[in-house]
Amino acid sequence: MTEFGIGVDLGGTNLRAAAIDRAGNLLDKPISVDTNYQGGREAVIGDIVNAVSSLKHQFSGARLAGVGIGVPGFIRLREGFITNSNNLPYLENFPVRDEIEKRLGTPIILENDANAAALGETWQGAGQDVDSLVLLTLGTGIGGGIILDNKVLHGAVGMAGELGHLTIDPNGPPCGCGNNGCLEKIASATAVESMAYLMSLGDNLTSRDVYNLAAAGNVKAQRIFEQMGRALGIALGNLVNTFNFPLYLLSGGMLPAWDYFAPTMMEEASRRSFSFRNSDTRIAQAKLGNLAGLYGAAYLPLQNLP
Ligand SMILES: [Zn+2]
Repeated sequence: MTEFGIGVDLGGTNLRAAAIDRAGNLLDKPISVDTNYQGGREAVIGDIVNAVSSLKHQFSGARLAGVGIGVPGFIRLREGFITNSNNLPYLENFPVRDEIEKRLGTPIILENDANAAALGETWQGAGQDVDSLVLLTLGTGIGGGIILDNKVLHGAVGMAGELGHLTIDPNGPPCGCGNNGCLEKIASATAVESMAYLMSLGDNLTSRDVYNLAAAGNVKAQRIFEQMGRALGIALGNLVNTFNFPLYLLSGGMLPAWDYFAPTMMEEASRRSFSFRNSDTRIAQAKLGNLAGLYGAAYLPLQNLP
């Protein structure tokens, strides 16, 4: 009997769920539901339960190994709690995992969304040829996931890999986490938009507008991506020095600007890391796009199978 896992990705604007078998085949196209964040806890939990139930029903001829759920925010892994999430404040300090498990009668594994994406890329994406990697997701914030020997590196309570909060500039702009000059304050889409505003490039420009300006030859816009690249390069140099992994991946909405930020990123990483300069360590683009989190979440219950 085919064994499969269900992956759920609780994103900023929609909730997606997919059934993926042990060989890595997506069994059907993912279900996508607009998330009703205003509806509060019951609405979100109800949406998750409905999406998973519908997939369970659709593939009732196969054996479901379990359900993995990728959520934005800090996770307390053992307790199955989300301790801090900007998008889902009403799920904080509530036994999310146990509640969903009770309603579905299926084992649930909660994971941070960037950790799930990193695992997905290792299983079926750009990291298939390695066992250990780091993924940075460049979106409105920056998420991070560390995969060591094909497993998510969790740390003591499940909060390892918060790489968006690596200090890049000790005197940089304040971050919601309490620190100053975090990576995500310099290299996320939001950071690009703030820099564009501070450099008087225009009011209310989106990161895509700034990208279009850079592509059209605007030097100020290009300089913003160079700064973003330097910040990423500092972070990556540190990560290479820390882990000596073979692969570091970037994904997320800012990836199309690769040509504008990658040169300074590579230069900076190279300058700051002896082992990067002297080995075939790769910094590359992830492959699975917004499916990575679904693959990784579905793989969580599958990877524990004998
Ligand atoms: Zn921070």
